[in-house]
Amino acid sequence: MADSRLPRLEFQMLWQHVLDVPRVWLIAHDTDALSTEQLQQFSLLEARRLAGEPMAYILGQREFMGHDFVVSSDVLIPRPETELLVETALQELHGKSQPRVLDLGTGSGAVAISIALACPQATVVATDLSQPALVVANENANRLGAKVQFAQGSWYDALTGNKGFDLIVSNPPYIAACDPHLAQGDVRHEPLGALTDHGDGLAAIRLIISGALQWLKPGGALFLEHGWDQAAHVRELFEFSRFERVLSLKDLADIERVTGGYL
Ligand code: GLN
Repeated sequence: MADSRLPRLEFQMLWQHVLDVPRVWLIAHDTDALSTEQLQQFSLLEARRLAGEPMAYILGQREFMGHDFVVSSDVLIPRPETELLVETALQELHGKSQPRVLDLGTGSGAVAISIALACPQATVVATDLSQPALVVANENANRLGAKVQFAQGSWYDALTGNKGFDLIVSNPPYIAACDPHLAQGDVRHEPLGALTDHGDGLAAIRLIISGALQWLKPGGALFLEHGWDQAAHVRELFEFSRFERVLSLKDLADIERVTGGYL
């Protein structure tokens, strides 16, 4: 296999993709001849990666909560830190017999689908403003065999049916419009509307917290993912909206990443 300017791991991942083989196969067949077609296919993918396109979009998938999710540039790439939101949701649902769960701004569906798979007794509703994102989310739900009801629209405006959710979760756009991260690395290729509110980074979070008062059952819980420096602000917003037992949880990097509270 030819030399490449890619890091070794990415080089191997692209070859695995082209040849549709596991990593151990590559190592055992290191000196096998490759067809011109395979070399051309690899060169195309390599060029995309060298131009900065995220691996997840090139491979068309990303693992999250132990499931392989299809991803395209219509959706945010699922992040490891977002598993904290799902784990928190699952703890909340533990022991509830037929809970109703809402995921706002579902993107690839990773959060809603992971919850539905781990908690099959729950009714899971998931919304997104983006129709192309909902196509990806639907495909993921079908491939993974998850039962999720998808609805298109802006946050709560997507909903028509029953109020009275036991739990609302969301990983909303929370990067401030002026944050230089938006112009760096993988993020440059992701849908801007999934990353930033085009304001101070808290606009969507404010809307979700205030709207939850109408959509949660008494005693229901709301948990949100937010930026590394937003926890104290987000806790204030919850408390201002009369949420009780407001708390922030730390991700594996020891950063307060999820904040929630109860009505
Ligand atoms: N965690 C993502 C990032 O930092 C942002 C995701 C989001 O805005 N919901 O790139």
